[in-house]
Amino acid sequence: MGKVFLTGAGPGDFELMTIKALRMIREADVIIYDRLANPEILKEAKDGIECIYVGKADGRHSVPQDEINEILYQSALKYEKVVRLKGGDPFVFGRGGEEALYLNKRGIKFEIIPGITSAVSVPAYAGIPVTQRGMAVSFRVVTGHEAPNKEVSQIPWENFKTNDTIVFLMGLYNLPQISTKLIEIGREKDTPCAVISKGTTSEQKTVVGTLETIQNEVIKAKIVSPALIIVGEVVNLRKNLQWFD
Ligand code: SAH
Repeated sequence: MGKVFLTGAGPGDFELMTIKALRMIREADVIIYDRLANPEILKEAKDGIECIYVGKADGRHSVPQDEINEILYQSALKYEKVVRLKGGDPFVFGRGGEEALYLNKRGIKFEIIPGITSAVSVPAYAGIPVTQRGMAVSFRVVTGHEAPNKEVSQIPWENFKTNDTIVFLMGLYNLPQISTKLIEIGREKDTPCAVISKGTTSEQKTVVGTLETIQNEVIKAKIVSPALIIVGEVVNLRKNLQWFD
């Protein structure tokens, strides 16, 4: 029976993948991958191996999670080294935890190969540090997939009143509700906000505004996913720290 390597592919830039992830890809007997992984990465795989696309877009799953679990299980029965490649870090909103629990339940050995998460690296490529002395002593990484107007929200919105940085992943579609909700709970209307699309790649695009104006900026610039939202005073640092685009 084989082993499954839940592997982080990094945020997009090929060179932001770990050496360990690259080695696993080169040694893999089968690769099961998502949309976010840089497709160039697959060129590193051994010739002729099976590469299975199970891509998801914006949290809407093109292949249902149960089916992905089953593919992982069947692959582990068939092959020695199964690489499950995920964008960014496998345990940051990638449902990597669920897949690992499933493998554990079925008695399949696994390893986790962490990756550079988009939550921190994409802001960095836009010249935005997620923490900064005197500005933000912490940052949160929050799912933007859940619409804030949902009646029973799992997100503790009331905790977001402080001045710390918030990064929303999978939130492009819900941006209007997210910014309205933040204003509702007491964040200033002119709190700086940025949306960064296709970060760390040659197609990276960043728009900056405030909680009040950001949605307009996104529409004007025709921002597409994958994109993340970053809210907080640290966004202002981009003026001086912009280096990539
Ligand atoms: N495990 C991943 C996140 C998976 S959720 C990680 O650690 O990065 C997918 C979300 O991540 C997208 O909807 C988007 O919000 C964000 N994302 C991933 N790659 C990105 C990129 N290159 N640029 C901007 N956002 C990205």
